[in-house]
Amino acid sequence: MSNILLQALGLSKHFNRVRAVDNVSVDFANQEFFALLGPSGCGKTTLLRLLAGFESPSAGQILLDNKDITNLCPAHRPLNLMFQTYALFPHMSVWQNIAYGLEMENCTKMEIRERVGQIVDMTQLTDYAQRKPASLSGGQRQRVALARALVKRPRMLLLDEPLAALDKQLRTQMQLELKRMQHEIGITFLVVTHDQEEALVMADRVAVMNRGRVEQLATPHVLYERPRNRFVAGFIGAMNFIPGRVVEHGIEIAGNGFISARTDDLTIGDDVWLTVRPERILLTVERPAQAEAAIEAAVFDIAYLGQDLKVHLKSKAGSIDIEVRVTSTEAERNRFFPGQTLWCSWPANQASVLTC
Ligand code: ATP
Repeated sequence: MSNILLQALGLSKHFNRVRAVDNVSVDFANQEFFALLGPSGCGKTTLLRLLAGFESPSAGQILLDNKDITNLCPAHRPLNLMFQTYALFPHMSVWQNIAYGLEMENCTKMEIRERVGQIVDMTQLTDYAQRKPASLSGGQRQRVALARALVKRPRMLLLDEPLAALDKQLRTQMQLELKRMQHEIGITFLVVTHDQEEALVMADRVAVMNRGRVEQLATPHVLYERPRNRFVAGFIGAMNFIPGRVVEHGIEIAGNGFISARTDDLTIGDDVWLTVRPERILLTVERPAQAEAAIEAAVFDIAYLGQDLKVHLKSKAGSIDIEVRVTSTEAERNRFFPGQTLWCSWPANQASVLTC
């Protein structure tokens, strides 16, 4: 049996001239935690609303268990959308807010009591069940909204920026809680976020969106280690982009010369970006004897981040900015300072080459 729960096939949504969602095809598996990640305006919310049935597509299809649900109204889809604003009823208690959906479905009193009790437990709201939403903290309100969506036992829960209203510390805590609940309850979660760290922490798979399209769909590890293009490489984590031209066995960097790199699928003479993560670069006073790739550069800024330091350098030829992450222990040993000339080096397999 296929493990695919929901499929978007060539899905598009145009608002006049704006292609909010542009020919998107994605499969969502049973029990997976999936994140839609991208900058503001890239079409994440519109894609979510299409899947939930609150927008009708300009083109394409939506399949659930391989059956076409493109024209089914939201209430008849076994999906539940949790809104950014939570939309709780202010005059009802936490318990009543959670029970409301089941009352609308005419469930028996006993069933309601049992199901609400279970979900209140799971979302750790037992002590607040009789309170009104106004007397709760942001994090507690967020849990009520989640409980209200989960109590209806949807096949898939769609969450639009679920943690956006919370402060940084609470957000980090709730990321882990959301993951725990998803695991415990075993339904598919689709979370929309513009926060790359949030997507990487929570999701089994992430679709990176840009201008209505999916740029890359992969696990967090693959997105970080093998971004497909410049947009993804720059959006996920920090990245150095070094402009160059493909030559035999490597890249020619203007003003710096040859750098060894894997260029298997590229054509000699292509303009490319050599990409390398700041934490993969070694800083040394002398050029390491065995270095496969090295650039001589001068330090122009050092930023302290507590555990790490961010060292900004400019290549000796003057045109390339390089960022290097150094642990504070390493910085203790080496004492870098602005104006200092250093060598930035890395093993060839830690860099990848992207076409321009
Ligand atoms: P954010 O992170 O800021 O919420 P998003 O990635 O969720 O952004 P969408 O809200 O899906 O992006 O919007 C995608 C594009 O479609 C934007 O250019 C937006 O202005 C446009 N858009 C969305 N809804 C409508 C609408 N009802 N009418 C016209 N344009 C719309």
